[in-house]
Amino acid sequence: MLIRTNDTVKVLIGDDEGTRGRVLSVDRAAGKVIVEGVNRVYKHVRRSQRNPQGGRLSKEMPIFASNVLVVCEKCQAPARMGVRFLDDGTKERYCKKCGAGNGSLGPPKARRVKA
Ligand SMILES: [Zn+2]
Repeated sequence: MLIRTNDTVKVLIGDDEGTRGRVLSVDRAAGKVIVEGVNRVYKHVRRSQRNPQGGRLSKEMPIFASNVLVVCEKCQAPARMGVRFLDDGTKERYCKKCGAGNGSLGPPKARRVKA
């Protein structure tokens, strides 16, 4: 899964189809992401010490990562991402649409350097 926290993503499916939002958290084990303002639900909360009023709390619920596309930093279009190694051995995520790099995925490693 090539989605990271603070990425901008576009939602492809569901009630929030077409909206763009920032990724708040990524659950790699479940393959889900939480996107700002997407899949909001009202949670009814009982009165408690922390929340003396109780009532309805609006919060985002996780959606499947396969239902969003990362928006490329360079071309600003939703695009599929690939992984490649740079000449210095850095692992990088790149946009398959325009080819621009979209953030490092790992430090340079000598064994990845092409001879
Ligand atoms: Zn791009």
